[in-house]
Amino acid sequence: MDHIECVVIGAGVVGLAIARQLAERGREVIVLEATEAIGTGTSSRNSEVIHAGIYYPRGSLKATLCVRGREMLYEYCAARGVPHQRCGKLLVATARNQLPQLNALATRAKENGVLDLLRMTADEAETIEPALECVEAVFSPQTGIVDSHQLLLALQGDAERAGAICAFHSPVESIDACGGRFVVKVGGQSPSLLSADCVINSAGLHANALARKIHGLDPRHVPPLYFAKGNYFSISGRAPFSRLIYPMPNEAGLGVHLTLDLSGQVRFGPDVEWVETLHYDVDPRRAESFYAAIREYWPGLPDGALQPAYAGIRPKLSGPGEAAADFVIQGAAAHGVRGLVNLFGIESPGLTASLAIAQRVCEILGRT
Ligand SMILES: Cc1cc2nc3c(=O)[nH]c(=O)nc-3n(C[C@H](O)[C@H](O)[C@H](O)COP(=O)(O)OP(=O)(O)OC[C@H]3O[C@@H](n4cnc5c(N)ncnc54)[C@H](O)[C@@H]3O)c2cc1C
Repeated sequence: MDHIECVVIGAGVVGLAIARQLAERGREVIVLEATEAIGTGTSSRNSEVIHAGIYYPRGSLKATLCVRGREMLYEYCAARGVPHQRCGKLLVATARNQLPQLNALATRAKENGVLDLLRMTADEAETIEPALECVEAVFSPQTGIVDSHQLLLALQGDAERAGAICAFHSPVESIDACGGRFVVKVGGQSPSLLSADCVINSAGLHANALARKIHGLDPRHVPPLYFAKGNYFSISGRAPFSRLIYPMPNEAGLGVHLTLDLSGQVRFGPDVEWVETLHYDVDPRRAESFYAAIREYWPGLPDGALQPAYAGIRPKLSGPGEAAADFVIQGAAAHGVRGLVNLFGIESPGLTASLAIAQRVCEILGRT
């Protein structure tokens, strides 16, 4: 049986960021990815927004890793030539009864260390975005967009240059954690066994199910997982906006927002659809609720403009109606298995936070 120091499971943005940092610290690393390529999961099915860190409770992993990860990501993108743009976003109240929520978000942002938000009257906001309609807004200059595929490629390139290996078509089926080492069972067309000193489970939507197949890990450490699908619609041509527009968040998500890609194309979403199985079709009938939500802040959206685009699925640790759960990054201090790190519930802002999550995983492993 071959032996390797660290096995990272999953070649999404988080797994690749972890592999890069471990390899650059001199660790021997293999990334085992079930599918044929990098970024085939949630990492290529999201809004590609670099979040400022506004929404999350003070002291939560989401807040601290988003704020730290955002700065790390901007620096990384600049250094590695990953296309990105600090375009800014307007968080808008479209009715007076939303003002307390807007105020609460501005306060929360300050608590999280996001100190540069700018309050705007409706006139000020509508001057910079003439198609917008709102009663008040908050401008976040640190919010931006990134080309997620180029980011994934840059991370893979760095990891491989530092000696990491990415193995595709390599689904991990189970893991034995015994005697201070791991035996990783890899399925697919050429099944094999691999022994390792460390295992990092960054399998995204499959992380919880996989953790239940780690013999030697008490299943009580594996939280339940819920799938919240987010559907997107697009319009052809350019929308008359040059910044991201976010309405007030609701209990399950950030609201149907307007985001741009780096070519200036606009998309709307994601909404929230609780699902039992993983499927990515977008039902065109959902457009009706999108028209209503978007026209709250862009009344000029023409009839018939929306087309189904794509969908992503959030790995959520809180179910419908429950308070939003934080990221869970568990090392031996939490579950008692030396060398094992499980990452659960890495939904938004996981893309923004990916480099800071990787740093945290390295710190946890450094202590084991
Ligand atoms: C609708 C939506 C919008 C979002 N918008 C944003 C945003 O604008 N900004 C932001 O910061 N974040 C956003 N996010 C969150 C962000 O996309 C995720 O946090 C991030 O992509 C998670 O990356 P990951 O590597 O953990 O998971 P994934 O990208 O899902 O990668 C997991 C990988 O593990 C592989 N895998 C699974 N099981 C196994 C196995 N047994 N063996 C081997 N490989 C396995 C999968 O094939 C996959 O490649 C959004 C998420 C969603 C769903």
